[in-house]
Amino acid sequence: MVVADSAARCKVVDFKQTFARDYLCPYCPKHVNQLGTHKPWEEGPHPRPAPPTMQTAARLDSTVLKKLKNFNIVLSSPPDPMHAVHGGMCQRFWFDFLVDGCGNIGKDLEAAQTIISKAKIPTSIKRPDNRMGDRGAGPPSAEQWVTFFRCQLPFIMLHIWAPTLAYDGRASGVREQHFRFEPKTGSSKEDRPLLEGMKHVSDIFPVAMLLCCIVELMEQDLDDDGVEELRQYIKSFNIKLKDLCGQGWLTFNQHIAEHIPDAIKRFGATRNFSCLPFERYNGKLGRINNSGHKQGKMRGP
Ligand SMILES: [Zn+2]
Repeated sequence: MVVADSAARCKVVDFKQTFARDYLCPYCPKHVNQLGTHKPWEEGPHPRPAPPTMQTAARLDSTVLKKLKNFNIVLSSPPDPMHAVHGGMCQRFWFDFLVDGCGNIGKDLEAAQTIISKAKIPTSIKRPDNRMGDRGAGPPSAEQWVTFFRCQLPFIMLHIWAPTLAYDGRASGVREQHFRFEPKTGSSKEDRPLLEGMKHVSDIFPVAMLLCCIVELMEQDLDDDGVEELRQYIKSFNIKLKDLCGQGWLTFNQHIAEHIPDAIKRFGATRNFSCLPFERYNGKLGRINNSGHKQGKMRGP
């Protein structure tokens, strides 16, 4: 099996890296302007065999891995759950959408951080930084994203959006909370628009909860029904996010995550094909004392 993030996987097994045009995915024939949609060919039994490489972004021209017998390069190079979901979808939803795009969650970021700092978290799981949402605090680790989406974000939303969620603002005539969405990344194209403008809390909340459920399920050992539930959650999240923010908001991470359920069926729990253990060692390597010498140069005593 090849375990790598998307960029490294492309280098190792010779997948194309062209997000802007043609086929973008090595596992399916989906085109860039079809993200967040469901195609008839996606129906059928799972996991599916790899489609012909001329219909995908898998070139397989210049890799020695082709010489390995009984090794399917495409199916044995699964998407990485850590980079696709934790560093991809979670990061994009919290930082890019809620914090940067929606004006610090409609000026409620401070209230959210108060809840984060007061939360009682077992010492056995990784606690997110209390400044979660401040770019200066640095990017959260995958384990911190898991804690945040499993244990904290649902309660943050229930607290700061209570007037809308608890009292059904639309039905009761209470003025529903809403934000002006002004994306700081991405650009609107004719065939992939970005839907800027007012976003209502009652439309954002179900999308956020879907992502919380995706993160939760990916921590489990799933049976077949659980894998199909995860598949539906990921597809629903992408479709609802496209409806909320426009197709131009969706990235490759959002699409490639749709292939994680097939990888679970082949390799078992997500921890079996995740980059997380390797990334942990990157952290350890980074903390090795090099006496101020960079690029691997060490000096003896
Ligand atoms: Zn695909």
